[in-house]
Amino acid sequence: VNIPVPKNEPCFNFAVGSKEASLLRKACQKMRNAAPFEIPLIINGKEYRTGQLQDQLICSDHQSPIARFHKVTTPLIQKAIEGSLKAKEDWMNLPYSDRSAIFLKAADLMSTKYKYELLASTMLGQGKNVWQAEIDVIGEACDFLRFNTYFGQSIYSRQPQINPNHIWNHVEYRPLEGYVVAITPFNFSAIGINLPTAPAIMGNTTIWKPASSAVYSNYLMYKILQEAGLPDGVIQFIPGSGRTMGTQLLDHPDFAGCHFTGSTPVFNKIWLHSAKNMMNLYKNYPRIVGETGGKNFHIYHPTCDVDSGINGMIRAAFEYQGQKCSALSRAYIPRSIWPEFKKKLLDKVSQIKVGQSDDFSVFMTAVIDKSAYKSIKKYIDDAKEDPDCELIFGGKCDSSKGWFIEPTIFVSKDPLNKMMKEEIFGPVLTLHVYEDNEFDDILKIADKTSEYALTGSIYAQDRDIIVKASKQLRYTAGNFYINCKSTGSVVGQQPFGGARASGNNQKAGSVDNLHNWVSPRSTKESF
Ligand code: GLU
Repeated sequence: VNIPVPKNEPCFNFAVGSKEASLLRKACQKMRNAAPFEIPLIINGKEYRTGQLQDQLICSDHQSPIARFHKVTTPLIQKAIEGSLKAKEDWMNLPYSDRSAIFLKAADLMSTKYKYELLASTMLGQGKNVWQAEIDVIGEACDFLRFNTYFGQSIYSRQPQINPNHIWNHVEYRPLEGYVVAITPFNFSAIGINLPTAPAIMGNTTIWKPASSAVYSNYLMYKILQEAGLPDGVIQFIPGSGRTMGTQLLDHPDFAGCHFTGSTPVFNKIWLHSAKNMMNLYKNYPRIVGETGGKNFHIYHPTCDVDSGINGMIRAAFEYQGQKCSALSRAYIPRSIWPEFKKKLLDKVSQIKVGQSDDFSVFMTAVIDKSAYKSIKKYIDDAKEDPDCELIFGGKCDSSKGWFIEPTIFVSKDPLNKMMKEEIFGPVLTLHVYEDNEFDDILKIADKTSEYALTGSIYAQDRDIIVKASKQLRYTAGNFYINCKSTGSVVGQQPFGGARASGNNQKAGSVDNLHNWVSPRSTKESF
């Protein structure tokens, strides 16, 4: 195979009056009119309707379900596992070029024929504005499929370079023995498609449990994979409750691995549960690969460019309501620039427009669901009572129509306040103002404050400072940014993932990630 280096999928701008904007508006309207869309499970290529239904709501208009899905049952999970093991026999023997063709075709279908439907399902289903939906379900989703097929081929070509006389050495990159489980999050449709397909590209069969609040877009992507030629059973699509299916999927001798994005506590549970099963159940040590939470930072130095620093701050903290794992939630600003910084920040943040996803002029919509709303609101309410914290912007929450939370900014006197430490996963940013001569201490504090280590940025013009921060923060972030915001990694450009409590840093959309899904066999032949 020779798959050339892909290009990143370009993005439209959906300017008012453009053809793209009017097509997308129609797609959103059509989706709203036809709601709720009914979603079956798909196992071995067949649709199943269990009658145990759950609604996927529009988070900014929560009286309106956008979709309604059938939840998986115990016997169907069993069927999915058996079907997955059976489908693997043919799938792993299909040449890499034939497997790749399916994913490359799916990416093309996503960026052309199904573009508007995918955008609408991510906007209405997951509460993204048009731009956030575009970079996710079109840009990043297509990039994952194309770059993974491109990177995957390089694994097979890694062969021993030394073959002494009468000896031929060869390494076969087998898929894992068993099935792989993909547990995907609500916040990126792209991660939805990446987690089951990355192992599948390497010849594995996977069982995909999508997030309940992202089932619609994930189902549409699944149907596209089928249209692109995905054989039955290679990926099983089984929405439902994680609690019910979690143990059943893990309690099987053929469980070979899990590709996960979600919370740290759930990831820890998967490790713990599978470690116990290692004693007496599994055939293999499973590959457990996950990306979890973050408490991401921006550090501003007195030499920074204030205007671009503020732009980056607002985008990183409030785009998609702060619900990216990479979102900014704590920042450090030097005393000398604070008056100017604060004035400009408050001026900019007050221009943020919050509303419905299908209003193309909004910057923010609502947070994903009631439980997210309650947990974010509690952080805000507690901080309002905390003498250490001063609310300088926002702080209002209103759940009457949708789960709306204003962009909210606190200033904390204590750099170790819980608002600086804990993941909130919402549009809440906490700042700490430090004395200019304490910059070195702030680097140390920023490193120690949180258990997470996903993303972070340094804003400074002085090169010595940049180098110092980069060294001092070596383990503080898996994705480190210099004079730019901490969100928005691009596949093929900034491989994404973090260590510490943020996961095992197996960079999504990279060759490092794909290595997890093969189990090499060395063969020596003598002649
Ligand atoms: N890759 C995304 C970014 O850099 C974040 C992905 C996530 O939220 O898991 O913004």
